[in-house]
Amino acid sequence: MTPQLLHNLHIIDPFGEREFLDRVSIVIEDGLIKFVGRGYSHVGFEGQILDMQGKTVLPGMINAHTHLYSTLAMGMPAPQNDPGNFTEILKEIWWKLDLGLDQASTKASFEAGLLDCLQNGTTTVIDHHASPNFIDGSLDLLAKTAETFGVNISICLECSDRNGTANFCDTLAENLKAIEQFGSDPYVAPLLGLHASFTLSDKSLRSISDHLKKLPNSGIHIHVAEDLADEQDAQSRGFKSVIQRLDHFNLLNQHSLIVHGIYITREDRQTLLKRGCTLIHNPSSNANNRVGILESEIIEALHAGLGTDGMQNNMLREAKEGSLIRSAKSSSQIDYLKLLFKNNPDIAVKTFGRLIGHIEEGAQADLLFYDYDPRTEIHEQNFAGHLLYGLGKPCDVMTRGQFRIRNTILVDIDITRIHENSRNQSTRLWNKMLEQGR
Ligand SMILES: [Zn+2]
Repeated sequence: MTPQLLHNLHIIDPFGEREFLDRVSIVIEDGLIKFVGRGYSHVGFEGQILDMQGKTVLPGMINAHTHLYSTLAMGMPAPQNDPGNFTEILKEIWWKLDLGLDQASTKASFEAGLLDCLQNGTTTVIDHHASPNFIDGSLDLLAKTAETFGVNISICLECSDRNGTANFCDTLAENLKAIEQFGSDPYVAPLLGLHASFTLSDKSLRSISDHLKKLPNSGIHIHVAEDLADEQDAQSRGFKSVIQRLDHFNLLNQHSLIVHGIYITREDRQTLLKRGCTLIHNPSSNANNRVGILESEIIEALHAGLGTDGMQNNMLREAKEGSLIRSAKSSSQIDYLKLLFKNNPDIAVKTFGRLIGHIEEGAQADLLFYDYDPRTEIHEQNFAGHLLYGLGKPCDVMTRGQFRIRNTILVDIDITRIHENSRNQSTRLWNKMLEQGR
């Protein structure tokens, strides 16, 4: 790939080596950042030189937990039976949606979702997939679709007993196949997906544990204590908590992603720290499901990451909504930009095994360029307010040194086809859900 010199840029890279710096040049070679800073001489540069006209550049953002399979849920009809609690929300809405997905609607969900990620500046996605009627090849489809968008993807398929033993075995096999197939792919990070403790028997957890034992570089990606019902289920099975149950089956290690954790105990927190697990916080989803709010102290102690749980693909908006939800419900505030720009890159480094999420020498060249003309002064003390309340969508998006969006135009991506197809597939999917008695 031809080396590129991008100059006349203004960096905002919160918690990075250069948080706020203007008149900057960036040199990119082989998809990596080779130089960042002022005073780079153009003389003798052999490659492409681009004047970025004073645009603001941010690192590509990371969504630490989402469900691309729920992309076609936007605007779907309300359930016939109004769900009264968390378990009913799953039964009435999400388990009907995932059962309705076939290969065509799953592909449409992936394409439309990943397109929306790019348009919103999310260039790394840690996904948790479910399509019980389309298992074989679903993770291969996700990895290959992400590749066409140049998005880094962590893949897993949720194992659960809720659709029967054969379905559980097929799902586990699909995870294991993906771990083998993509284990050494630099842009794909396969994990072992579990839905949640309350939909998995001891026998199933033991089976997963037996396989995980042979995979030292892999971990589980699971919803934990999202609602009290999950904790009550673990207790009814004779365990102190969900985390203690997972630990009993040796399922917790430094690669594990633990999602939500709203009802985890002090002992659980210590166990997660001891095992080196990562906790992911999803504020807009928790508010939407009315399951409670994750304690600020837990977020701080475990350096939790920020995910959207399928609610959206705009991470700056998730950070803003997280701040607002916490303001409404709690007296202690959290710096959501720290979750997004410090903890999420740390999680990406751990998950993908290389530097992602900062504008630094040696990092992958995933960059967002904003044509930002602020209506108030912006400086190094107040850029956080501009990130949460001012910045719109990026006008250029680059991943691995290649522009995927250039001056608001998608490069080699047919948005008309993708949206026409996803509209058609969403109608099919919603009809299938109605047939299940919505
Ligand atoms: Zn989730």
